[in-house]
Amino acid sequence: MDFVLTKSQIEIQKAARNFAKGEFAKELSLELEKKHEFPTKTWKKAAELGFIGIYFDEKYSGQGLGILENVIVAEELCSKDSTIGSALILAGLASESLLRFACEELKQQFLPLIAEGKMLSADAFTELDHGHDMTVMNTTAVRDRGDWIVNGTKTFVGNGCQAGFYTVLCQTDPDANPSYKGISMILIEADRNGITATNAGENLGIRMMSTANVRFKDVRIPLTHLIGEEGKGFDQLQAIFHESRILIAAQALGMAQGAFDRALAYVKQREQFGKKITEFQITRHKLADMAIKIELARLITYKAAWSFDAGDISSKLFSMAKMYATQAAVEVADEAIQLLGGYGYMVEYEVERFYRDAKMTEILEGTQTIQKNTIAAALLGQIK
Ligand SMILES: Cc1cc2nc3c(=O)[nH]c(=O)nc-3n(C[C@H](O)[C@H](O)[C@H](O)COP(=O)(O)OP(=O)(O)OC[C@H]3O[C@@H](n4cnc5c(N)ncnc54)[C@H](O)[C@@H]3O)c2cc1C
Repeated sequence: MDFVLTKSQIEIQKAARNFAKGEFAKELSLELEKKHEFPTKTWKKAAELGFIGIYFDEKYSGQGLGILENVIVAEELCSKDSTIGSALILAGLASESLLRFACEELKQQFLPLIAEGKMLSADAFTELDHGHDMTVMNTTAVRDRGDWIVNGTKTFVGNGCQAGFYTVLCQTDPDANPSYKGISMILIEADRNGITATNAGENLGIRMMSTANVRFKDVRIPLTHLIGEEGKGFDQLQAIFHESRILIAAQALGMAQGAFDRALAYVKQREQFGKKITEFQITRHKLADMAIKIELARLITYKAAWSFDAGDISSKLFSMAKMYATQAAVEVADEAIQLLGGYGYMVEYEVERFYRDAKMTEILEGTQTIQKNTIAAALLGQIK
């Protein structure tokens, strides 16, 4: 067993670290977060340097690398800045759907736009009445000659107000039994007639990204925009979760590391009662507990990514990584706030923002409860 990154992975790690160090400034972050503004310039630079879609094939303007390399980049970017890092890593939210299931024409048309930083994308899956339960969709797509006609409203669509296209889960067969066998995934460009995207409200965290309600009213889309197979949208979604859960774990890992780094720097210089607070055993033990959580989160996240790249698909492992790393991020960021005392509560010291951003990772792509459901189902032999 070898726990060492390859030479090229170490170089990618260094490059991502240097990029974040050079481009992410605290002042920029505080300003963009306040204005709820996407870090467009930084995103474009990241794309130029090949950090966006690093795992896409070179023919789609990617680097032809694996999910592990993407995890390494996500960790570095999110540890330097949880909000800018998340915005960059989630810029290509709909990539997995396209990469794994779309036809060659759609891949060639849209994947390079994502990797080159020319277009944001969005997954429009969630509906008002269908959060985790995606076994039936209210959004419908009906065939009309050579087109689909799409009607319905999606909610919580990340990047929803700026995305160039959406991957949309639609009920294409309302009579399917069970209903999930009548769900299909369709790519819809955001500039088609009949689409309205509006802000869904203010978020606790990841405030540089929009979270939108997207309404489709008689939107006409060519039949060729079907992603994967008709009636397989639900199954495709389960496969997409494999990758997206690993990526969220990586974001969370980076956030945990970033919050820890800030707390460590602070406690090393803070004095109370005539001594450094690192001389109190409680402070030292808190640091140790935080470091243990981060190390374990890193081990399981890297293992999940490595397994995915090796073609060993395990819903159980991916859910474990997502559950553990995101919980670790919230706990470590929470402890970081405590260690900074009153300063931890102030935006200028950043750990409160890491905490708010980390909380998102516990919800997106399924809450802790849902990950445990998946783990238990695998343990009981109901799924792989
Ligand atoms: C910032 C943000 C960004 C998002 N981005 C996107 C996006 O880009 N695209 C998209 O489609 N969606 C997105 N979402 C939606 C997100 O994936 C959903 O919010 C999430 O799936 C939860 O759905 P819900 O809020 O309807 O919760 P519900 O499904 O209503 O769950 C509510 C509670 O019930 C529990 N619960 C539900 N089912 C079960 C069960 N079977 N067993 C036990 N407990 C259960 C849950 O754990 C949770 O605690 C985003 C959400 C947020 C907050």
